[in-house]
Amino acid sequence: FAQKGQSLGLLLLDINGFKVINEAWGYPIGDELLQQMAQRLQDCVVQTGEKALLARIGGNEFAIITSSPLLNAAISPLAQVILSAMQPSFTAGSYEMYVDVSIGAAQFPEHGKDAESLLRCADIALHRAKSIGTHFAAYTAGLATPVKAMQLVNALHKAVERREFTLYYQPKIHLQSGQLAGWEALLRWPSRELKRLILPGEFIPVLESSGLIVPVGEWVIREAARQVETWRKAGLPTVPVSVNVSPRQIQQGRVYEVIATTLADTGIPTDSLEVELTESTFLHQLDIAAELMKALNGLGIRLALDDFGTGYSSLRYLRYLPLDTLKIDQSFIAEMEQDTSIVDAVIALGHGLGLQVVAEGIETPIQQELLRQRGCDTGQGYLYSRPIPGAEVPRWCVEHPQFVPFPL
Ligand code: C2E
Ligand code: MG
Ligand code: MG
Repeated sequence: FAQKGQSLGLLLLDINGFKVINEAWGYPIGDELLQQMAQRLQDCVVQTGEKALLARIGGNEFAIITSSPLLNAAISPLAQVILSAMQPSFTAGSYEMYVDVSIGAAQFPEHGKDAESLLRCADIALHRAKSIGTHFAAYTAGLATPVKAMQLVNALHKAVERREFTLYYQPKIHLQSGQLAGWEALLRWPSRELKRLILPGEFIPVLESSGLIVPVGEWVIREAARQVETWRKAGLPTVPVSVNVSPRQIQQGRVYEVIATTLADTGIPTDSLEVELTESTFLHQLDIAAELMKALNGLGIRLALDDFGTGYSSLRYLRYLPLDTLKIDQSFIAEMEQDTSIVDAVIALGHGLGLQVVAEGIETPIQQELLRQRGCDTGQGYLYSRPIPGAEVPRWCVEHPQFVPFPL
């Protein structure tokens, strides 16, 4: 059904805990549920008006080939529609039941040139979605084939032992005053073995699935705090530095203990550290995450919700989690010159809830101006600076006095 040379998306969907449904209600009920799911999937395809082919390829596994390409790391539009459609309860026999599904996605021809390799990539993405507890994951090179992934895991283990990681910092700018509002710490891996600087997109998924994100994430927090202390001693203005904390760290790590002891050891002001969390943190562990956030809030740590709008979650939690900041995902900033509707809505939502709003990925003066007109508080992006090593920050401040709150 596709034209020659056209790119295609492959979605693999399966039901989490289907075995339990079969055991609890019996196979006839399980079968009926599968039929209803197939019908809802069919309706989703019709609703989006995409050309798509739907198949049941295993016990509780469905595959959908679509003619629309995936949107990079963001969720595919069809997957989004499907996830919404799976939310209302099903009635099979006389039982009402809710199902929880995960979707993995891969793209032809980028991820595989034949059915087998494409299916394998979608399957790897599906397992990643399950292992980090999100509903959707797209295949990325970092997940790689099992062999490559194993090599990467081994190289990462060595990197942890050899302390090969480093942090880069990207400035955030107050859009109204034009002054420096803070920095975001971003992990970099100058790998000795692979002989290049590796970006997080390639290795964070593996750190997460291998559990290595816990020790590395702890190091990130301590290192960012140490950097704040160093800059303070050098007489630089103290502005908040944010660190990214992944769902797996929340689940397994000792985030609160590490932050509390780091603050005590360094003596830096508590509001000079900020924690960025993504929506996927709240999907399967809302209670744990909420408790941790309240505890961090009690310490005086600021909390930001990262990549807002790309995850798949309810808006309800926004009101009762102790958030300070909402970060609009860069995909919405990138499309602002054509369409500002989502950015308008997110700014209104954030301000309505009393939150600061940060725009990620500002690359052009036009985007900056559109955001400023709309009252967006803070901006971050290549327009101001790419992420730079911590040691280059003092020089950056001297070279960019227009951004720095007071003369150095
Ligand atoms: P993020 O937290 O949303 O970080 C913003 C990403 O956007 C960074 O990519 C940054 O380099 C990039 N960026 C900034 N301005 C622009 C722009 O104007 N245009 C474009 N195209 N990109 C821009 P980076 O450093 O590759 O990090 C990617 C993601 O990896 C981060 O997204 C974050 O989710 C994760 N990450 C980075 N460091 C850490 C860490 O220490 N721990 C954890 N758990 N995750 C991290
Ligand atoms: Mg971030
Ligand atoms: Mg982000």
